Amino acid sequence: MENVKPYRVLLYYMYVPIENPEEFAAEHLEFCKSLELKGRILVAAEGINGTVSGTREQTEQYMKTMNEDPRFAEMVFKIDDSDTHAFKKMHVRPRKELVTLRLEDDVNPNELTGKYLSPQEFFEQMQEEDTVVIDARNDYEFDIGHFRGAIRPDITSFRELPDWIRDNKESFEGKKILTYCTGGIRCEKFSGWLKKEGFEDVSQLHGGIVTYGKDPEVKGKLWDGQCYVFDERISVPVNQVEHVIVGKDFFTGEPCERYVNCANPECNDQILCSEENEHKYLRSCSHECRVHPRNRYVVEHNLTEEEVEEKLKQLAELV
Ligand SMILES: [Zn+2]
Repeated sequence: MENVKPYRVLLYYMYVPIENPEEFAAEHLEFCKSLELKGRILVAAEGINGTVSGTREQTEQYMKTMNEDPRFAEMVFKIDDSDTHAFKKMHVRPRKELVTLRLEDDVNPNELTGKYLSPQEFFEQMQEEDTVVIDARNDYEFDIGHFRGAIRPDITSFRELPDWIRDNKESFEGKKILTYCTGGIRCEKFSGWLKKEGFEDVSQLHGGIVTYGKDPEVKGKLWDGQCYVFDERISVPVNQVEHVIVGKDFFTGEPCERYVNCANPECNDQILCSEENEHKYLRSCSHECRVHPRNRYVVEHNLTEEEVEEKLKQLAELV
């Protein structure tokens, strides 16, 4: 038994009617706590979307129990091995939507969605002519890793995506469209929305990037960088064949795959930066953030006013 990590991180979703999501969420939270799982689960009338961590036994029990419920019998779990928990707490929250698009006219993926492509099909079709690959994730997710040649929508949250597509319509008209996201759930809605919007040839990567990276045939090929994930790991590898770094240090532009949050608690923006630059720039994205009275870097390092001034002088931000 070598190299068997003691924990696992599960990622899963299912669009299936859930009656009384609030009651379901409360009961499900108790169930997860009884298994000692940690993570984040959203429940809506349209389905469930979750990511949890636990020991192999705990996660095994969770999957088994879920699959015994007829509503979730077909639910596919993406499984990552892990050395520890990937979350600090356990949350199960009722929501209006599983992914927030806030469409004036909602899309039900069980009725309308793009064609599902296996990793192998996606790999082949993304290389075909007259094909555009649209990343359905946010800018900061794209910036640490994406499919080679994919289009980066200039958005910080998923709900901005429809407007961004409408503003850039000319780039996609008459083309074959492929979409992808982390685990596949955003594409279920997004590709359905694209079809409703009038785009005819729309396909989605089934199971998302996470499945693509584990596929024994494609082995994550044509993926550059890392895959951003919404837990304490921050990012995970995808391409098993080569590792091309596409992330760039916020301050110097050098290749970098290390995300930190701006130390100004009111900014909290995610920035890619090396350890060296973290110390040089007080882990802050701007002068305003560096001099914020509650700057967390200053607090963590017990910096005196003089020490902060000295750092700012070195950055030529104080004369
Ligand atoms: Zn900032």
